[in-house]
Amino acid sequence: MNAHRRIVLKELGLTPLWRLRPEAAAHQAPTKVAVTEQAQTDAPVHVDRQKPEIGQMDWEQLASTVANCTACPLRQGCTQTVFGVGDRNADWIYIGEGPGAREDAVGEPFVGQAGKLLDNMLAAIQLKRGHNVYITNIVKCRPPNNRNPGEDEARQCAPYLARQIELIKPKLIVALGKVAAQNLLGSQDSIANLRGKIHSFSGIPLIVTYHPAYLLRALPEKAKAWQDLCTARELMRSLS
Ligand code: URA
Repeated sequence: MNAHRRIVLKELGLTPLWRLRPEAAAHQAPTKVAVTEQAQTDAPVHVDRQKPEIGQMDWEQLASTVANCTACPLRQGCTQTVFGVGDRNADWIYIGEGPGAREDAVGEPFVGQAGKLLDNMLAAIQLKRGHNVYITNIVKCRPPNNRNPGEDEARQCAPYLARQIELIKPKLIVALGKVAAQNLLGSQDSIANLRGKIHSFSGIPLIVTYHPAYLLRALPEKAKAWQDLCTARELMRSLS
């Protein structure tokens, strides 16, 4: 292991590192992971939308529509919308739940403590914010007091995320935490059940891992997040 990798793993809190014996590693190949399909949700979005339809918008139209959105009450309580950041032609998209206080102030997703950990998680698999990676959230406005976005708030925002994904055409989606995973998959399953499988969102493979903010509080789960990142990296290799 090179020195850089060792530092990255240390920052992630993943040292000491347990190595799988080669025969054990063979049993951990991502090809063994069960594949599930995204659940269909056909609940209507109860708002008048500007023309053109969201599904036809280009980046500029989409960003400006999000910035002016009043489809749910979240916009009234936040400073600004947080659209997303990174490479619009990325192979990877990482999706969190919604902006926190720092993101609300800066206008960029994952810039607080959890964002630092996310950057370290990316570095651990040789990725970097802005380079072949796009980062966004289920909702684009900060929920008050950092509560989870409500069902209707997430539903109103879903067409924006769907259009971002359509425009980016990522090879792989990584859902960060329960809120992102449940909304993307239309599932109520626990994160423990959702991780360790290859799901699908609109035909794009989707992997679930723990939210970095949760990992900051639950150190033992970092080893599982590392497994998820390795699965994601192997899957991306097989897709490239
Ligand atoms: N948590 C999230 O889910 N998203 C952010 O952008 C920041 C913290």
